[in-house]
Amino acid sequence: SKYNMGWNLESSYTRLPDGFYSHAEPTPVTSPELVAFNRNLAEELGLDVEALRSDEGTAILAGNEVPEGADPIAQAYAGHQFGHFTNLGDGRALLLGEQITPSGERLDIQLKGSGRTPYSRRGDGRAHLGPMLREYIISEAMHALGIPTNRSLAVATTGEAVMRETDFPGAVLTRVASSHLRVGTFEYARGLGVEELKELADYAIERHYPELKEDENPYLGLYLNVIKRQAALVAKWQLVGFIHGVMNTDNMTISGETIDYGPCAFMDTYDPKTVFSSIDTQGRYAYMNQPPIAKWNLARLAEAMLPLFDDEQEEAVKIAQAAIAQFDPAHHEHWLEGMRAKLGMVDAKGQDEPIIEDLLDIMKKHEADFTNTFRALTFDQFPEEPIFESTQFKSWYKQWQARLERQEASKEEVFQLMKKSNPAVIPRNHRVEEALEAAVSRGDYTVMGRLMEALSEPYAHSEEQEPYTKLPASSDLPYQTYCGT
Ligand code: AMP
Ligand code: MG
Ligand code: MG
Repeated sequence: SKYNMGWNLESSYTRLPDGFYSHAEPTPVTSPELVAFNRNLAEELGLDVEALRSDEGTAILAGNEVPEGADPIAQAYAGHQFGHFTNLGDGRALLLGEQITPSGERLDIQLKGSGRTPYSRRGDGRAHLGPMLREYIISEAMHALGIPTNRSLAVATTGEAVMRETDFPGAVLTRVASSHLRVGTFEYARGLGVEELKELADYAIERHYPELKEDENPYLGLYLNVIKRQAALVAKWQLVGFIHGVMNTDNMTISGETIDYGPCAFMDTYDPKTVFSSIDTQGRYAYMNQPPIAKWNLARLAEAMLPLFDDEQEEAVKIAQAAIAQFDPAHHEHWLEGMRAKLGMVDAKGQDEPIIEDLLDIMKKHEADFTNTFRALTFDQFPEEPIFESTQFKSWYKQWQARLERQEASKEEVFQLMKKSNPAVIPRNHRVEEALEAAVSRGDYTVMGRLMEALSEPYAHSEEQEPYTKLPASSDLPYQTYCGT
């Protein structure tokens, strides 16, 4: 290509043993067109924005060309899916390489929907436009909310139809992540052998926790750090009402970033049992189950890493058990700290937890909107809704105010803390659907553009964001999401 567009790619992953990946090329498409492009992210990556948006750049973002320095691979991994172990791998994704950014970060550049790989099994390796735009919108919204996540650089349509129940327009999403190392990658490595497992662990430490190299047992250190980051991540999800929807071990990262935006969605009405995914019939990945499921997944990680903790199996098991016991307190601490901030509690007091729990109970009983209840509390302005008119809420409110009076913080400080802890805008399901409908059915990307704008500063609480804080007009059927589409 004429310019290198700012690509600065390395392929450190290919230094792992052969079994960890397969070389594969993206499958060319007939007529690529760039429909979504993240200029800010491109700049952070050190990429030439104009060059990437040209036909040559679009060819790369659709998989018709590979960028300079790329060595595309599909990564192998395994995973527990809804509790059952399976061997997997990138069936419709390709890692182009790791972009070394101007600030020295190493970030995976991955195409999703770029065609078949050796791990595709019966799949076609393709993705359709709606779900790729949905991932683009929600992952960027998560980033703006301050939640660790992979990012979305671009969506390109392919000009080809993807066959599912009916034909859908095909698309390729370009994702950016600190890595795609998963719990499932360790489960897979354990199957390869202890030497391979060790090489993977060394790679993960080098990439995400280099400070551990000097530790007495860096592998235990690695495990403990993954526990810490995942405990924090799941708490952050819960604090904004996010439900991942498919927390299989292959969808859980070692970096502590959110990945795999398939059936995820934000809840509106507060109910801890909320599930959106059409295939999660048992509610395994319901809102309230996310912490115990994260812990369950981390136990699978410990099983995979066992030989690295100690040569003696029995001793290794003891070490693993002591480590995983840290999950619950770590998660609880993050959750409590976050909830205190949402309620303007600048310090910690003994009776905070019952106050928080009481509010959640009242919200559940009155089917209150999760996001808007905290917004109402932030602005101390209560719309005419059953919850706010209930005697239960009124007495809770007095208790809460009394609690706030026992701390040394001005009303303004409390307000500022609550404002930055309670988003005005989340990607509400009806708004996301509306944006996708306009884009996919009518080729109109302005609806999505305005939504992305509102989502880009969720804590601004501006006038223009007001329409995006509203609930859907009618009470439609329960919202359902789909994965693997
Ligand atoms: P997910 O449920 O998104 O985590 O995907 C589970 C596995 O199915 C992953 O290994 C994907 O690569 C694979 N997969 C999903 N859709 C396709 C497809 N259309 N073609 C090939 N593989 C797929
Ligand atoms: Mg996945
Ligand atoms: Mg997926």
